[in-house]
Amino acid sequence: MDRRPNFVYPALLDSGGNTKMARTTSIQATISSLTEAFARQLASVVEQAAAARIQSAILEGLGSGRGPGRPRKDGIVGLGLPVARKKAPKQLCPVPGCKNAAAPVFGMVCAKHKDVPKAKIKKYREDRRAAKAKKAA
Ligand SMILES: [Zn+2]
Repeated sequence: MDRRPNFVYPALLDSGGNTKMARTTSIQATISSLTEAFARQLASVVEQAAAARIQSAILEGLGSGRGPGRPRKDGIVGLGLPVARKKAPKQLCPVPGCKNAAAPVFGMVCAKHKDVPKAKIKKYREDRRAAKAKKAA
């Protein structure tokens, strides 16, 4: 019983003279040293985690063209597809009989009919709209 406080803080026992007080002080010292150790450990853990995060962020940024960039690309594709579908529903080429998908780069006609004059495309589109309206009515 007497050994422990002596072992922890022998100087406090000598200077105080009062054993009770010395013991209380040594316990407090032990607690505070434990707390300090814990705090120091916690700080180092947090520091390490932050360092690891920063390091991985840097590595990710540096290696975006290589291997580490792949999961990010997949994430963008996974996220981008539904958004793109919602934003621009698949539109078909307005040329009659053509079942190809229209692309914005060709002026909303398919690759095959990208050379068709705009006036013609416009007429096709109007015809299609009229046909749709007739169907709906
Ligand atoms: Zn077409």
